[in-house]
Amino acid sequence: MAVKTYSYYKDGNKLCSVHTTVKEMASKKGLKLYSDVVLIDTELLAMVEKLFSKLHCSKYIISSGYRTPEHDRAVGGNGYGQHTKGKAMDCCFYDKNGKVISAKIVCCVAQDLGFKGIANISKKYQYVHLDMRDSGVYRGDEIKGTNSVTSDFYNYFGISKADVSKYTGEAVPTAPKVNCWVKDNKGWYYLGADGNQVKNDWVLDGGYWYFIGQNGYMATNCWCTDSQGWCYVGADGRAVTNCWKQIDGRWYYFNGTMAVKGYQQINGKLFYFAEANCNGLKECQLIITNDNGEIKL
Ligand SMILES: [Zn+2]
Repeated sequence: MAVKTYSYYKDGNKLCSVHTTVKEMASKKGLKLYSDVVLIDTELLAMVEKLFSKLHCSKYIISSGYRTPEHDRAVGGNGYGQHTKGKAMDCCFYDKNGKVISAKIVCCVAQDLGFKGIANISKKYQYVHLDMRDSGVYRGDEIKGTNSVTSDFYNYFGISKADVSKYTGEAVPTAPKVNCWVKDNKGWYYLGADGNQVKNDWVLDGGYWYFIGQNGYMATNCWCTDSQGWCYVGADGRAVTNCWKQIDGRWYYFNGTMAVKGYQQINGKLFYFAEANCNGLKECQLIITNDNGEIKL
């Protein structure tokens, strides 16, 4: 890749890339030709061709390519910018239907492709400046000043990958599924924060606790343990919470999600629950109450 030297008079109608003739890149303003010499960076042209095909363009129009220092100053430049080195062009890209592609889209895609200098240069967001400077990067919005304004045009212009994919036709990468339920023919399973299937653990969702068994599926209508004791999940998979519940003909009380044991004062009354599985009793089951629900000792 190198900056090539052409002659406007000799090479003007020649193509310097698939879609660009030498005269389109010449240092010309209106009818005034500043120089027969036309400097054109082949790397810049190759990059613009990449941009052209990525956006599925029908054409593009170059408003300024190479500029002599005099020409550059005449259009408000400093006389030694990238245009004077043949390494920049200002242009407007048209989509496959012949409509102008917004400079916001072009800037984002140019950024993805690795252009060194990129800027919106028109109020209507139609023309962009593109360059392949030797060092550094430039991300400008020249209607807001000529300094770099951003390191990321997507963010700066509020453009999404989906907006860009309307032109590039490229699939939008989808975020991995996290913290969500998924159903298959075996039942419901849950993908955790790392996107992996949760196993043998509790999941808190929407204020309810659910238990995921060793098989990776939501448990229903069964006892489950956690570090502190017994819990029970109902038909909907939710842990039974803060209530009495009859299970297999026996009564239990759940404080939070935990089945209580031993002596317990509930709503001002005393109850006794089995403290272990013994003598045909199930741990946590209610043992004795009187007619008022009070314990009989
Ligand atoms: Zn420019």
